[in-house]
Amino acid sequence: MMLNPHPGLPEFDYVKPKSLFEASQFLATHAGEARPLMGGTDIFVRMRDGAWNDKYLVDVKGLDGVKDLSYDPSSGLTIGASVNMNRVIASAAVQEHYPMLAQAADKVASYQLRTRATIVGNICNASPAADTTGMCILLGGVLNVHGIGGKRQVPLKTFFIGPGETVLQAGDIVTSIQFPLPPTGLAGKYIKLGRNKASDLAIVGVSVVGYSTNHTASGVRMMLALASVAPVPLVVDQVEAILADNPITEQTLTHAAQAAMNACNPIDDVRASARYRKMMVRNLALKALREVWETIQQ
Ligand SMILES: Cc1cc2nc3c(=O)[nH]c(=O)nc-3n(C[C@H](O)[C@H](O)[C@H](O)COP(=O)(O)OP(=O)(O)OC[C@H]3O[C@@H](n4cnc5c(N)ncnc54)[C@H](O)[C@@H]3O)c2cc1C
Repeated sequence: MMLNPHPGLPEFDYVKPKSLFEASQFLATHAGEARPLMGGTDIFVRMRDGAWNDKYLVDVKGLDGVKDLSYDPSSGLTIGASVNMNRVIASAAVQEHYPMLAQAADKVASYQLRTRATIVGNICNASPAADTTGMCILLGGVLNVHGIGGKRQVPLKTFFIGPGETVLQAGDIVTSIQFPLPPTGLAGKYIKLGRNKASDLAIVGVSVVGYSTNHTASGVRMMLALASVAPVPLVVDQVEAILADNPITEQTLTHAAQAAMNACNPIDDVRASARYRKMMVRNLALKALREVWETIQQ
């Protein structure tokens, strides 16, 4: 792909439909030349660089169910697609019931950028380096999607196909992401390794959640997801299996971290070599698993 050597935003039409139905119809009719607009923090960079050349940006931020953030003690959390990351981080319900999601969102770029950037935009952009997707998968996130055929739900773990590619079809708009109630005592940790702490994409991102349960031999269930080390956000099922089947000791945690390293398939790029990424996966997975295990025991 040739990037524009003289970047500047190309001309496009801004479209503001009055309903989800109208928005889906427009997006489907203009497939390949229109896309939904949320915070625009990915879109405008890609358009400025010449990587994307859409004729229409379809502003769906104000439509039904898209602006709300709500928590229901019987069903869980729903985050509307246009709710920005700072609002998620500041939400009392998120802080109390899903603090690990706030922690992951807080690692995205800067405060200023997070006043625009959304969790749903982070997900739909489908970058393998996205900071919030791993945690959203581990928390059981399900996307509410409006398309030309009406509404449907898509579990996030089935959503990603490859870098920048998802199961969304022309006309589809994600209206919100919802999370089930967290298991009692849920602990979690997101560790991001970037080239700097200010505003850089992850070289490696490690999300871990865990809780006590009677349903495993070890008495805990722990799950791990990785960013930036595979074409899509990578949930390492083997980590969960190792930690379910064996008593949790330093040796077991090390074994699980090693499994995380073996499972990933990173590339060399400007931010880091594949070899460095793999080694950092092992180190940071061990650190995150240890921390979550310690929290579970408290
Ligand atoms: C300076 C800078 C630093 C950054 N740092 C980080 C970082 O540290 N970590 C990180 O993960 N990301 C980072 N990003 C990337 C970006 O900010 C995030 O991916 C952000 O969450 C995108 O959200 P948005 O609302 O701006 O999405 P947009 O740019 O509006 O949209 C992104 C893509 O998703 C699609 N989309 C958006 N909403 C929907 C919807 N409701 N339905 C269907 N499709 C939709 C759009 O059509 C587009 O293709 C950075 C970006 C910049 C410019």
